Amino acid sequence: MSATIIDGKAFAANVRAKVAEHVTRLKDDHGIKPGLAVVLVGEDPASQVYVRSKGKQTTEVGMNSYEHKLNADTSEADLLALIARLNADPEVHGILVQLPLPGHLNEDLVINAIDPAKDVDGFHISNVGLLGTGQKSMVPCTPLGCLMMLRDHHGSLSGLNAVVVGRSNIVGKPMAQLLLGDSCTVTIAHSRTKDLPEVVRGADIVVAAVGRPEMVPGDWIKPGATVIDVGINRIDAPEKGDGKTRLVGDVHFESCAEVAGAITPVPGGVGPMTIACLLANTVTACCRANGLPEPQGLTA
Ligand code: NDP
Repeated sequence: MSATIIDGKAFAANVRAKVAEHVTRLKDDHGIKPGLAVVLVGEDPASQVYVRSKGKQTTEVGMNSYEHKLNADTSEADLLALIARLNADPEVHGILVQLPLPGHLNEDLVINAIDPAKDVDGFHISNVGLLGTGQKSMVPCTPLGCLMMLRDHHGSLSGLNAVVVGRSNIVGKPMAQLLLGDSCTVTIAHSRTKDLPEVVRGADIVVAAVGRPEMVPGDWIKPGATVIDVGINRIDAPEKGDGKTRLVGDVHFESCAEVAGAITPVPGGVGPMTIACLLANTVTACCRANGLPEPQGLTA
């Protein structure tokens, strides 16, 4: 293996430490304690794990965590009423509605009911528009984490060819906007892209956000390129014993690490950065709400 491993776990710990420092300063100098409200509707097991983890990390950096757990059959009107209360609550600086929502709830309607200034997931249509036009916005956490690691590794990204594989609203598209904002030449690839291997071979930076286990092999990677693997896929691992599973990314780690200049592992790459960036967005939202300078290095 020749690639440098980009250690997302260590990077995320560093981001959380910066957030905690800023939270302490907000409390000591201004008497303000940032607060994050997380709304979970229903009992999806994966969502429950995420929400627990978010709550724990929020309090660990010294912020207030408000968890709102609602029954799966909660009506849209009741959910919108809760969001309106959180929008009006000055103690709440960030609001996150855990997705996916149960089928009877209109996700777009619910997300767009959040005050854009408190939309720490960056999914509100106003934030999407602000990001797309290069204005100050709340930036989706996973792409923000990828951008932070890329900036740290490369310094300037200006002029680099970046290929983002995947065009979802939560990862692929905002990732492409962020890379464009940093003056990369950006290609967005997807399931209809012709000759994907050749497209990826042209990239100095590859961001894979596809949701297909180990889809990108090493022979698609330009020697020395940086590979950011957003994918989280659970696959069978009979070598670990009957019924055992393991996590893999969207790139084939071993073969890509032979060719790449740098690569994020799965687990321990992009994953830990997502919640760290959620905390960073909450402290940023809190500073903006109070007319205070934003923390350096924690926004796009
Ligand atoms: P989506 O399913 O919303 O989007 C997947 C994208 O991949 C689509 O644009 C799709 O193209 C494209 N795609 C699918 N198959 C192919 C193919 N064969 N060739 C090229 N492109 C293809 O996924 P998400 O963006 O939500 O997530 C992507 C991955 O990232 C998942 O593994 C998810 O678990 C992970 N993830 C990780 C996070 C983290 O914290 N680390 C956070 C969010 C997601 P088309 O549009 O044409 O269908």
